[in-house]
Amino acid sequence: MTTASFDPAALRAAVRGPVALPGEPEWDAARQAWNLAADQHPAAVLHATGPDDVIAAVGCARRAGLRVAPQGIGHGAGALGPLDDTLLLRTTRMTHVEVDAAARRARVEAGAAWEPVARLAGEHDLAALHGSSGTVGVAGYTLGGGLGWLARQHGLASEAVTAIELVTADGRLRRATAEQEPELFWALRGGGGSFGVVTALEFELFPLAEAYGGGIFWPGEHATAVMRAYREWAATLPDSVSTTVRLLRLPPFPQVPEPLRNVPIVDVGLVVAGDAASGAELVAPLLAATPPPLANRVGPLRAPDLAFVHGDPEQPVPGVGHHALLRELPDAAIDALVAVAGADSGSPLLSCELRQLGGALGRRAPGSGALGALDAAFALYGVGIPAGPEVAQAVQERLDAVVEAVAPWQAPTGYLNFADRPGGDSADLFDGATHARLLALKREVDPEGLIVSGHALALPAA
Ligand SMILES: Cc1cc2nc3c(=O)[nH]c(=O)nc-3n(C[C@H](O)[C@H](O)[C@H](O)COP(=O)(O)OP(=O)(O)OC[C@H]3O[C@@H](n4cnc5c(N)ncnc54)[C@H](O)[C@@H]3O)c2cc1C
Repeated sequence: MTTASFDPAALRAAVRGPVALPGEPEWDAARQAWNLAADQHPAAVLHATGPDDVIAAVGCARRAGLRVAPQGIGHGAGALGPLDDTLLLRTTRMTHVEVDAAARRARVEAGAAWEPVARLAGEHDLAALHGSSGTVGVAGYTLGGGLGWLARQHGLASEAVTAIELVTADGRLRRATAEQEPELFWALRGGGGSFGVVTALEFELFPLAEAYGGGIFWPGEHATAVMRAYREWAATLPDSVSTTVRLLRLPPFPQVPEPLRNVPIVDVGLVVAGDAASGAELVAPLLAATPPPLANRVGPLRAPDLAFVHGDPEQPVPGVGHHALLRELPDAAIDALVAVAGADSGSPLLSCELRQLGGALGRRAPGSGALGALDAAFALYGVGIPAGPEVAQAVQERLDAVVEAVAPWQAPTGYLNFADRPGGDSADLFDGATHARLLALKREVDPEGLIVSGHALALPAA
């Protein structure tokens, strides 16, 4: 793109939402993402109030030679590259959520987080396909696929989407459904946020009257035994159960119970979409095959509780992560992970997690979106808190070492929502045909690369 002069007054006159500029009193608050590790320096920040603001802002940015980076709550901010000559378009004032219980559908504005969706749907014994944290944004999560507690039963959140409204680089508000704008509809379901500024999403909800789940925690010295027992147990589970296993070192935060603070822990997280009696029966073989736990926090859940089962932070925190998809988890892979991130490894990471895939996640339905399925057995995600430059470097090096350790079992593709690093190549995330199709659509709808996303589809320099 060519950079012309940016006239903030013209932008302010064109939109209803507040515009913040460098040096102004509200600048630091306006540019701050949920991920406190992201130090964002755009040319300006607009907090859009609705589609009209988005249309006006895209037009102003195009005329001024600025790019536009859509951002919701900002969990994925770490993956955005430098924001020079970029308007950061925040959607956090666009948070309206509607649940139509009879139709089992929800419609949300692009800045909504999952928690209100889970709460409103739960009032009708319905569940959305959100992930482990209610603070994550519906839009960013769903555009990247969306791997949640009901995913082995119902698939990726992107597969439950029925419509997405967005403003494309030409300033047009479009509605993408299976019938209308089908190529955009395909791309937006798991292909990321490169195709426009999403203003609203509509998706299916699923009946969930009762569930069972939580976390079971063991001292870190049992990691190898627990992970091996977990793998055998997980392989026997029906699709109605989703599980994780993590190597943890939890900070002394108030919400972390005393025996779990600052010590190496291995935990298994699970959600059974079913009643407590059948849930307890499914968990029993794991407990029989492992040493006595430090804490067993598994019990009956209602649908909205699923947004909190994992104990993810509920306030903004700094975090950097890295990931890989694994084809299989043999003993050697478990040994490699425990060596690099377990109790005696000296790892500075907060968590090194494996999420069980399979079930509906492995089945690509007719008419599925750009992601459709995850062709792997487990998703590995490591994360650390970069508290100061030295720790930040140690965390990044350890994240590299974790992914390197599992390289022999790594699947050829990746997962956008766990690809946290800036400058990542989207070609590493998708199979060749999917990536080429995404790139072709990006060239068609945004030939100048106006829209900047965390995982930009790299266009040849203009
Ligand atoms: C605590 C925590 C828990 C998580 N748990 C899970 C999980 O269980 N499963 C899972 O799959 N992922 C999970 N994630 C990853 C999460 O899904 C991604 O970080 C996702 O990108 C966050 O979306 P957001 O809207 O909150 O973030 P943002 O940073 O606001 O958005 C991320 C990217 O999405 C795109 N985007 C956002 N809004 C728009 C828009 N309106 N129009 C166009 N593009 C847009 C942009 O490219 C943006 O850079 C988790 C992350 C955290 C921090």
